[in-house]
Amino acid sequence: MFESDQHLQSFYIDGEWRQASDQCLRQAVINPANGEVSGYIALAGEAEVDAAIEAAQRAFPLFASTSREQRLELLENICRIYERRLDDIAAAISLEMGAPLEALSRPLQAPAGLWHFQTAKAVLENFAFQRRQGSTEVVREPIGVCALITPWNWPMNQLVCKVAPALAVGCSIVLKPSQNSPYSATILAEILDEAGVPRGVFNMLNGQGAKLGEQLASDPRIDMVSFTGSNGVGAQLSRAAASTIKRVSLELGGKSANLILDDADLEQAVTQGVRSMMSNSGQTCIAPSRMLVPATQLERAEAIAAAVCAELGLGDPFVGSTEVGPIAHQRQFDSVQRLIALGMTEGARLVCGGLGKPQGLERGLFCKPTVFSAVDNRMTIAREEIFGPVLCLIPYHDLDEAIAIANDSIYGLSGYVQSASAERARAVALRLRTGSVHLNGASIDLTAPFGGYKQSGNGREWGEAGFEEFLETKAILGCI
Ligand code: ADP
Repeated sequence: MFESDQHLQSFYIDGEWRQASDQCLRQAVINPANGEVSGYIALAGEAEVDAAIEAAQRAFPLFASTSREQRLELLENICRIYERRLDDIAAAISLEMGAPLEALSRPLQAPAGLWHFQTAKAVLENFAFQRRQGSTEVVREPIGVCALITPWNWPMNQLVCKVAPALAVGCSIVLKPSQNSPYSATILAEILDEAGVPRGVFNMLNGQGAKLGEQLASDPRIDMVSFTGSNGVGAQLSRAAASTIKRVSLELGGKSANLILDDADLEQAVTQGVRSMMSNSGQTCIAPSRMLVPATQLERAEAIAAAVCAELGLGDPFVGSTEVGPIAHQRQFDSVQRLIALGMTEGARLVCGGLGKPQGLERGLFCKPTVFSAVDNRMTIAREEIFGPVLCLIPYHDLDEAIAIANDSIYGLSGYVQSASAERARAVALRLRTGSVHLNGASIDLTAPFGGYKQSGNGREWGEAGFEEFLETKAILGCI
């Protein structure tokens, strides 16, 4: 899987793998499907972070001055090597966080990184770094040294949707991936090393979030922080970054509503909504976790949802037929169980699933695909992001009420509308306070802006919008 197993005991700093010292802590990587230790990683301390920042700072001026053509060539190399490593990446993701290999890691989790690199290359080909406004020239320049802090749920996707645009515009990088998904990040560092990313431009350290995050966010040599993860950590990072006034870009949680309108094909809409919710064991920030159903159709929707859950293939991520794997780590598993218990005490109707592990899967961190019905939007299970395979069915009486329920959330990441009329669906989309809206099962578009309204974050990633995150704007006045 790796070029060298030594890489897990090293940090990628200043263009080389530096062996961790004896002072560095070690952490076991647990396979969530069976509880076994699959490997050990070294955790960086203050000195390693300092060295990585210094390398990135040193590398920045030269890399910022490279030409578009040079960076296009670099991205081309990266894509070629990434393609060759796709199998390694897919296996790494399934092992570290439990996504099913054939259902998810191979078709989506692993290639998502490649698609972001390809998209960055396509955007770079035509991106306007300069524009004229009379005698003023507006120039877009790389913002500088970027600290990227990423989660474990879509590990490669989250890494590359930051790394690709940052490299494309000429920034240097210190990446701290999640300790729960160190394997995919290590392979990414191997790819970038082989592709010839100049020394110091890309640095990668495994380490404890709280320690490294604080150091990275508060260091005056870091020009911006881009974070994907939970709201609590996003707020902490913002506070740590405040004293040095750096840009902080946040992609945080969601509690996305899936509005099934009264003219939709209920069987199809519920089936798709449930499958999409349970995919990746519900550990997707845009998961459609609140399904809004016309009250008169609630009972039918419950029956369809229960039937879909009963057919989901739960199990070992490396078995070909598995559709849903375990929860990625113990703390997350405990949190999902706590919220399922809460849903039951709050008085929601349990349609299927519930507490505990499914029979025969007790060794891993498996959760039962769970559907609650007759959920009141004021209940905790309708307000908090559960980040597990738990769906809330919420009845509504008319369209205005449905839209009000959808918008009654601290989050505003994504939304979904199902209707027989594309025009009607679009009209509803315009009334939702979310960063994206998927009409009638539309899948993701990696070239479209991605991010949230309200407490789901700020800024936008992916495609051209992703470039903007990593750019400063300069006005040069008095040009002739
Ligand atoms: P999880 O704890 O489930 O990994 P988080 O949102 O907490 O989800 O983590 C996302 C990323 O943020 C990870 O890389 C994690 O190590 C890092 N992280 C966790 N706590 C902090 C913190 N206090 N400051 C900065 N980064 C953190």
